[in-house]
Amino acid sequence: MDVTIIAVGTELLFGQTVNTNATYLSKNLNLMGFDVMYHHSVGDNPGRLKNLVERSLEDTDMVILTGGLGPTQDDLTKEIVSEVFGAELVFDESVYDELKEYFDERHRHMAENNLKQVYVPEGATIFHNGNGTAPGFAIERNGKYGICLPGPPREMTYMFETHVRGFLEGLTDKKMYYRILRTIGIGESDLETILLPIIDKQVDPTIATYAKEGECSFRIASQRDTIEEAKAAVDAMISDVDKIAGKYIYSYDDEELKAVVVRKLKERNLTIASAESCTGGMFASNITDVPGASGVFGYGFVTYSEAAKASELDVSEDILSNYSAVSPETAVAMAEGVKRVSGADIGISVTGFAGPDADPGRNAGEAYVGYAYGDKKEAVKFETRRADRSWNRNFFMLMMLMIVNEILDGKR
Ligand code: ATP
Repeated sequence: MDVTIIAVGTELLFGQTVNTNATYLSKNLNLMGFDVMYHHSVGDNPGRLKNLVERSLEDTDMVILTGGLGPTQDDLTKEIVSEVFGAELVFDESVYDELKEYFDERHRHMAENNLKQVYVPEGATIFHNGNGTAPGFAIERNGKYGICLPGPPREMTYMFETHVRGFLEGLTDKKMYYRILRTIGIGESDLETILLPIIDKQVDPTIATYAKEGECSFRIASQRDTIEEAKAAVDAMISDVDKIAGKYIYSYDDEELKAVVVRKLKERNLTIASAESCTGGMFASNITDVPGASGVFGYGFVTYSEAAKASELDVSEDILSNYSAVSPETAVAMAEGVKRVSGADIGISVTGFAGPDADPGRNAGEAYVGYAYGDKKEAVKFETRRADRSWNRNFFMLMMLMIVNEILDGKR
């Protein structure tokens, strides 16, 4: 089913509000097997809104609107959508009772204009609002659907999860199954290129790649008559994908890399400590984002200066002066140092040029991730060829996680 999402509100056009509702709805609708074709934003203008809803219903099977359901004069979404669908607004007892209870509970007087919210389009399915006053609804005419949801994201997401998801699932006999695979160590275009033989042939299951700063995920989805059939089709495609891209895949269930690393450290009964220079503690911060990280992570050093590398991690003056602070030798010495000082099983380190500048004759984006584990020690070089400080720092942090993951998989 093709869908148009319309965000209503002049504040969106002023750039004062980011249209997060459209992102949320698109993401969820796609995962449910709906095809979102358009995103529109429109101000609180009845003529333009009506025009847009009419056009959207010509182009697609369903319009989902957010915003403009409130009690004030400029909230017109319900009125316009009812008009387009040819439905009268009628008093709804259950909405009235709910609204009255909402105000009574808060010892507030129900204002005259709140009564406007008690009128809903005749024949519509009403979605009660657990987080506010404006009810949402779905209306259907001749196989075309209009769904109106409140603007505030807290109200909208609540309504979507408690009412709309079930309503939408009821519109199709097909069952959707999908899995999200995550990769590291390969860019989106390279990933697409190696998967092209599968991507080119796709009908069902479908495969779609998504790039996110330094990482790349893809979703494999199938819609069949039964969930078992959909699952079998997705699993078959995953085994084809595995043959081509398996070495880059670190999760088959959309688990974040930092969570994978913490989980595996726990499973293998290992501890880790970090020594960071150019990432300024991002590795430690990401690891400690994961609940339960304290069982595997006790020490994270930020040794930004040469003096700090020497005094905290015992990186020798010789190494720093002979090879420089950004070198494989320094990275390994940092990893060995942090392993020794902390008593952890694995020491991981990073030193590099985050940019935009680098030392004379060196390039921004050059970094070394070092590790020490048992008798093994090594530094791995990365060159992003970018001068973007924030991108590089995030990338180096991900590379530290990737190396730890490889160690834990026995690949290093
Ligand atoms: P209310 O019941 O609060 O009157 P409403 O349905 O009338 O809800 P709006 O008045 O249009 O909603 O929007 C209320 C607030 O919700 C906006 O000020 C804005 O902060 C947020 N909001 C509205 N639309 C969006 C959107 N598309 N994405 C993110 N936030 C939004």
